[in-house]
Amino acid sequence: MYKTESYLNKLRESSMNTYPLINPHTREKIMDIPECSNDQMVAAIANSKRAFHKMKALSSEERSLILDKASDIIAQNKDDFAKTITLESGKPIRFSLGEVDRTVQTLKFASLEARKLEGESIRLDAATNGEGRDAYTIYQPIGVVGAITPFNFPLNLVTHKVGPALGVGNTIIVKPAEKTPLSAIKLAEVLTEAGLPKDAYQVITGDGPRLGKVLIDHSDVQKISFTGSPQVGKMIKSQAGLKKITLELGNNSALYIDKSVSHKLKEIAEKAVVGAFSYNGQVCISTQRIYVHEEVRKEFLHYFKEATESLTYGDPNDPATDLSGVIDEKSQNRILAWIEEAVAEGSELVTGGKKFENGISPTILVKVSPEAKISCNEVFGPVVLVNSVTSAEDALKEMNNSPYGLNAGAFTYDLPQAFKLAHELEVGQVLINDLPTLRFDHMPYGGLKSSGYGYEGIKYAMREMAHMKFISMNYS
Ligand code: NAD
Repeated sequence: MYKTESYLNKLRESSMNTYPLINPHTREKIMDIPECSNDQMVAAIANSKRAFHKMKALSSEERSLILDKASDIIAQNKDDFAKTITLESGKPIRFSLGEVDRTVQTLKFASLEARKLEGESIRLDAATNGEGRDAYTIYQPIGVVGAITPFNFPLNLVTHKVGPALGVGNTIIVKPAEKTPLSAIKLAEVLTEAGLPKDAYQVITGDGPRLGKVLIDHSDVQKISFTGSPQVGKMIKSQAGLKKITLELGNNSALYIDKSVSHKLKEIAEKAVVGAFSYNGQVCISTQRIYVHEEVRKEFLHYFKEATESLTYGDPNDPATDLSGVIDEKSQNRILAWIEEAVAEGSELVTGGKKFENGISPTILVKVSPEAKISCNEVFGPVVLVNSVTSAEDALKEMNNSPYGLNAGAFTYDLPQAFKLAHELEVGQVLINDLPTLRFDHMPYGGLKSSGYGYEGIKYAMREMAHMKFISMNYS
């Protein structure tokens, strides 16, 4: 069992205060979490800077072995980590177990890529007067990385920053979401056991705007890696000046279902239910907008409604549970208000739309106007709209009519149409014959428009956490 108490006690010694950590499903208090002071963050940055010298002394093989061992420890303690995720986030245990599996892989990819972070050789003689030189690039660590993470994947999204940062040879401080700090703290214990130098990974808990600002403003922090809402992401970008930043933000993911897949509608509908309602839709690439060809709309909607209504709400610790309480009352009220507003504006409710204990019954709406909040904003709740379209061109227009641009998906057996959609969808990642709710942890992953700035995916994140240095040797 990996415990959080000793790490939390250390933070408590000099913290300003505490705040209550609430179980989102029961809304009962779990424990008090230290509200760390600005001075604690500044001290953590100084410790991180000192630890950087120790990290720099490690070979890429040594860093790789630490990440590999951390991955193995988490795999051996899968249930323990999954229970912590469920406790703090309210995520049904099936999905928490899935998040732990992904974390194990994320660390394996980081371990692998740590050994492969290679530059390239450059032919300077391709330019006039460039001859007589050998030239190449190398990647070097940058120093202290500041990571700010969201509540919805409290272990794997932290690892998406920690794995690449340590793999490159940097040190990292994580400011986890106030609502879900425990998984990040458990990860600290694992990394220590795996042999990471002291203070190369630290967690500072507490208020996002206040502690975030200390990280962003500090000249010894070389990079801010943020995952969270577009509102906060934009603020960070405006504060960060010339600091390196990566922003992984929200989306209102769209899916097109073409008439050419009419023979697979039941299978697609069942998949789409998972994409739309897993963890109550509190996933940045949750399937939120479905555009279905009018010729197959009725049949798709029949299967989709049937599968949606078979979902069970309950205790997130029960392996049979699909849906649980949403993250907090404020989100619950906002989501319900958006549903009500859409209905008042003419959308039709197919199923759901109701408060259910601390959650919301899985909701399908049709005939939703593109101006409705549940269409043009990120819902981050168990709500999906299904609108009919007359063609793939029509769908493309609707899908691109969004302030976001992270993932989009399309089911189609029409090859030219698939290519056209892949080229013309204004998103970072297009998934043909898959849901937009698809991410493998080593693939490049980043958003256009209000969905982000820069890339994650282990190999790509490493390059964004390193200096690419150019070296030329004149031998003439
Ligand atoms: P959030 O933006 O409210 O909080 C994220 C983090 O930012 C937290 O640690 C919070 O304390 C901190 N924070 C808040 N205000 C800050 C400020 N002014 N300065 C610095 N830090 C600040 O997001 P959330 O509610 O925890 O997570 C949900 C959002 O995250 C959704 O929009 C979702 O789409 C997005 N998300 C994106 C991805 C992705 O990879 N693109 C993945 C998961 C979640």
